[in-house]
Amino acid sequence: MATAEADKFPPYLQPLCSCALLAVKCGTSARSVNFAVGMGHYSSGGGSSSSCRHLNFAQRAAPSSTVTRICFCFLLLILSVEADGDWQFSEDSWTGVCEDGRRQSPVDLNEEKAKVEVTEPLIFLRYDRPVRANLSNNGHTVVLNVEQQCEVAIASGGLRGVYQLDEIHFHWEAEHTIVGVRLPLEVHFVHHNVIFGNISHALQHPQGLAVVAVLFHEVDFESSNMVPVLDALEETAGSVGETTPLAVPFSPATLLPDDRSHFYRYQGSLTTPPCTESVLWTVMHSSVPISKFQLEKFRTVNSTSGLLDANFRRTQPLNGRTVYLIIDDEVDIKDNEISSASTSKISHKTLFPIVIISLAAFKIIRL
Ligand SMILES: [Zn+2]
Repeated sequence: MATAEADKFPPYLQPLCSCALLAVKCGTSARSVNFAVGMGHYSSGGGSSSSCRHLNFAQRAAPSSTVTRICFCFLLLILSVEADGDWQFSEDSWTGVCEDGRRQSPVDLNEEKAKVEVTEPLIFLRYDRPVRANLSNNGHTVVLNVEQQCEVAIASGGLRGVYQLDEIHFHWEAEHTIVGVRLPLEVHFVHHNVIFGNISHALQHPQGLAVVAVLFHEVDFESSNMVPVLDALEETAGSVGETTPLAVPFSPATLLPDDRSHFYRYQGSLTTPPCTESVLWTVMHSSVPISKFQLEKFRTVNSTSGLLDANFRRTQPLNGRTVYLIIDDEVDIKDNEISSASTSKISHKTLFPIVIISLAAFKIIRL
């Protein structure tokens, strides 16, 4: 059955991913950039250089009218808003792969049951770079789109290729649970493998998408990193289809945990219809703080059928899938430096990766 390209996206991704992709194409048309996966070391965010390095895309869009692209984005946004009533988070009416799939997401994560692997660090390319961004209410979540003059991407860390950021969105409460415990918030950074050119094509491959999930835990103090997003959320919460620019430049890295040295990895799916099983999940092991007051702001978001109290999917069976706990192979180097400088300064946070690596080494020896 012939399907329009935009229809292959889950409804909440349709306008936003397309707009992000168009923004990328606009931003890259004038610059040539190169990237060699796994070669050399790059700091998160790619440094402060004003020129674009990395990522020489095989499929690059031919130049076309910016006005046409903006109109196309706007049209997709309208179409998506109209389609928002197609499903709800109750899952009662979710059919097809959502119902029959064997690699569905989210899942429950258990450190003791995960298979430990040591690999090269996960690189967050240009995540530190402050850029203009806007926040949209699509009736299922709020979505952050960032302007990409240069590609924002992830690579290495066990990924086969470079995955470009399409959008960032939120789930309240969290979708992935930790040994049955559900945290209050989860943010998803949605990327597609650049070899597939766009998210529509990437969805047709088992590892076409890579989503990085970050869990949030409640604390007594406010998170300053969340303030620009939540200020924009106040403007967009009331109406489905509302889009508001963030008042200050936004760095995606501000929503990541400081400790990115270990994370869960498994093969799964989109967590909303059509639940396509094309997602390589990375769930960061460390969570990020947020206050109760800030969390409450997410519950003020309106859907087409009233307040969106919660927008998470229940956890799905693993069906024999392996969940990996991946450890950055630079952790031991950093920790050795710390331990040789001052053993007394080693904290439990420092010791944990050492213990895990020791366990991993033990497993390797046994194998
Ligand atoms: Zn999501």
